Amino acid sequence: MKNIHHPAPISRRGFLSASATAGLLWSPALAGCGSLEIRGDEGEEARSVIFLVADGMNTGTWTLADYYLQHRSKQRTEWVQLYQQNAVTRALMETCSANSRVTDSAAAASAWSTGIRIDNGAINFAPDGSELEPIHRRVQQSGRSTGLVTTTRITHATPAAFAANVKVRGEEDTIARQYLEREVDVLLGGGEKNFSALTRADGIDLKQQYQAAGYQLLQSRDQLLNMGEERAKRLLGLFWPSHLPYSIDRNQQPEIAQQVPTLAEMMRRALSTLEQNRHGFLLQVEGGRVDHGGHGNDVGAIVHDQLAFDECIAVAREYSQQHPETLVIVTTDHGCGGCQLNGVGSGYRDTDQTFFAGIDAIGASYEYLQSVVSSMDADQFKALVQQRLQVEIDDKRQQQLVVARAKGGYAVANLLRSWHDSYARTGVNWTSGNHTGEFVELCAWGPGSAAIGQWIRNTDLHPVIGRALQLS
Ligand SMILES: [Zn+2]
Repeated sequence: MKNIHHPAPISRRGFLSASATAGLLWSPALAGCGSLEIRGDEGEEARSVIFLVADGMNTGTWTLADYYLQHRSKQRTEWVQLYQQNAVTRALMETCSANSRVTDSAAAASAWSTGIRIDNGAINFAPDGSELEPIHRRVQQSGRSTGLVTTTRITHATPAAFAANVKVRGEEDTIARQYLEREVDVLLGGGEKNFSALTRADGIDLKQQYQAAGYQLLQSRDQLLNMGEERAKRLLGLFWPSHLPYSIDRNQQPEIAQQVPTLAEMMRRALSTLEQNRHGFLLQVEGGRVDHGGHGNDVGAIVHDQLAFDECIAVAREYSQQHPETLVIVTTDHGCGGCQLNGVGSGYRDTDQTFFAGIDAIGASYEYLQSVVSSMDADQFKALVQQRLQVEIDDKRQQQLVVARAKGGYAVANLLRSWHDSYARTGVNWTSGNHTGEFVELCAWGPGSAAIGQWIRNTDLHPVIGRALQLS
């Protein structure tokens, strides 16, 4: 069967001029409306690679996002549209690490970056202690630029494995310094605390050091969208102290939406910056909090973050349409939480109503509600939880809440999750709060994508990228 390596055009408008005049705003009108244009293989050599990761995405999560988008917008997700149009190479990927069938994000992204499986928890260190060269170096040596974009802290495991080496993934202050030393060109996401003199363990003002090295510092959505014509070649965008807020909270809270860009907005800015290098680039874009929605068994958070990730597939399509010499890979590093829609009612007839009404009714993540509990009195919080989750807090629950608040950690979020009960309200249930070991979805298009087999190991992507970019 012949693969077609370039999906349909989304827009005839020039990508960069469109993003400049539209202030980089995402336009749903551009999504998926093109008729399928069959294009031949452009050969095996790519100028650039866009690597899209929905971190911790079960196939169940992927399915839920598509069902919910149909309900809300009468559209399929971009990812499903690619399959409907037979427009891409598709594979299942085995995600194991060196020491477990169930990987963590550090070992998973290191497998892509180096082609070698390592133990969970390490970033580009082999089980025997030897240091492995991350792909950033090889891409840089080829004259290309590199960029990392994520909704997590920018120093979190998935982006870090493209450029850093640490034996323990928690060494995020070190990762922040390595990005500067190794000259990663574009860094956009959360995690300002690992760059600030006030919160770094060593007290070093890394933001100032980045600026001294020629990076433009961006600290709000407004700064990202309105950079003007200066066209910095290097960007450090830090939009939140830790992970960016979930999309569901961004959608509901104007003050978050004003401060924090969407993943697609960050991706567009990264592309317009990296595009200045005529030799090309490697850009990794991560919907990193899909994974956190899985860990937290938070159905509202996971559906909306998966949809925010899906917008990036449209951006990649649009870009690759304008620049056919671009290899695009879309996948996840592992499942998380075992998120699945289950049949509800006699003959499962109540499934659809339960799911759609249940998701429509959710107006906040458990994490967001936990984050505001200490800034409100009991009645205010009770009213907020009623409004956002349709959960009643009676006197007995109020007592439990007081205990959970004192306990700290995720105790409040865990209580809210148990009271909300996603299985009863939406039909969505979970196998655990851990990563899972399933084979995962992968698709790709552009030069070199035909080399991807139908069933691959995570390590197999490394030579695919290396060959496409002709890395030595
Ligand atoms: Zn995880």
